[in-house]
Amino acid sequence: MKTLLTAEQLHDGVDRLGKEINKFYGDQPLTIVGVLTGSIVLLADLIRRLTMPLRVGLVQASSYRGTAIDPGQLTMNFDLLPDVKGRNVLLVDDIFDTGKTLVGLVDELQKHQPASVRCAVLLRKQGRQAVMKEPEYVGFEIPNAFVVGYGLDYQDAYRNLPHVAALEEHEIGKTVH
Ligand code: 5GP
Ligand code: MG
Repeated sequence: MKTLLTAEQLHDGVDRLGKEINKFYGDQPLTIVGVLTGSIVLLADLIRRLTMPLRVGLVQASSYRGTAIDPGQLTMNFDLLPDVKGRNVLLVDDIFDTGKTLVGLVDELQKHQPASVRCAVLLRKQGRQAVMKEPEYVGFEIPNAFVVGYGLDYQDAYRNLPHVAALEEHEIGKTVH
């Protein structure tokens, strides 16, 4: 695989995201909602840069995958969501690809009557979007490749890589572990 973003670049990108988010919310209380499982590394790094009174919640989203890398039907689990009624919510996900996951999650979140919902993603794939919504905060724009590392997996592997790497053609479809 090829490194796309080094650990140092990621560090700087998360710094940038943190500053933008701090600037927007100021001292207003915020509930960060991380999307399991891909957002865990970003979540851990990002919350330590935030200065407002903060709560952290989690939701789970996954798309049934017909093949290893093509997403399908979205399933969501909100059992771990704290009470967000009347609170500002920032949804944090690893990557914005077609956008269907974030749109599905935002629609579902709205049912819990938050004061506001904004979205932050580490990565945004260029030219892939199939929805009208865009995340308010984007760490990095990347080309259309399948990426792993810094929370992102391929067959549940590689989440622990400190950098983000793009799988090469011959690596896709192989069983990892
Ligand atoms: P979307 O619904 O925006 O098409 O897809 C978003 C979800 O698909 C992400 O939360 C992520 O779980 C998964 N995904 C999309 N592209 C990639 C990728 O390049 N690598 C990995 N590991 N997951 C991806
Ligand atoms: Mg995901």
